[in-house]
Amino acid sequence: MTRTTVVSRPLAGAAPRKGPRHSGRAQLDSLDDPYKQSKKRRGVAVCEQCGATYQDGRWQWSKAPAEQEAEWIVCQACHRIHDYYPAGELILSGAYVDAHRNEIVSLARHQESAERAEHPLNRIMEIGSATPGTLMIRTTDIHLPKRIGDAIRHAHGGTLRTHFDKQGYFVRVTWRHDAEESE
Ligand SMILES: [Zn+2]
Repeated sequence: MTRTTVVSRPLAGAAPRKGPRHSGRAQLDSLDDPYKQSKKRRGVAVCEQCGATYQDGRWQWSKAPAEQEAEWIVCQACHRIHDYYPAGELILSGAYVDAHRNEIVSLARHQESAERAEHPLNRIMEIGSATPGTLMIRTTDIHLPKRIGDAIRHAHGGTLRTHFDKQGYFVRVTWRHDAEESE
């Protein structure tokens, strides 16, 4: 196996900015993550940090075939986690959040597991809260915040908004629910 270091870096000035509403998954998929390696990889590669395998043109959890020579790299999800450079965030606020925090977090984790099984690079990198009554979920990709937000709205009600900044390749989803009990 050959060992190479991934040197791809985010584009300069990629700080999150406000963008137009833009939430279709297919549309988002056509955009390029600045953390994605620029050259299209032909062979098999394995992330030395999380073990995800790149083969047949996509990342998967299956093991690389033993007979095939694989290259050790760091995947873009591990790279973002290392740099603490999320691609998306979901900000939850309102009185309801404190009253239902555990349920909301476990719902978010459940959605993450389902997403990650199919898309190894889509992960939660942090769940935290800056102030009482808020919860912040940061992700390595631009799809999870919307997926988690949709699931929370479906189960608990509330209002969901999505803002996507195409230039900065950053999605911010906000969810708000002010009543302490379900509507
Ligand atoms: Zn990885």
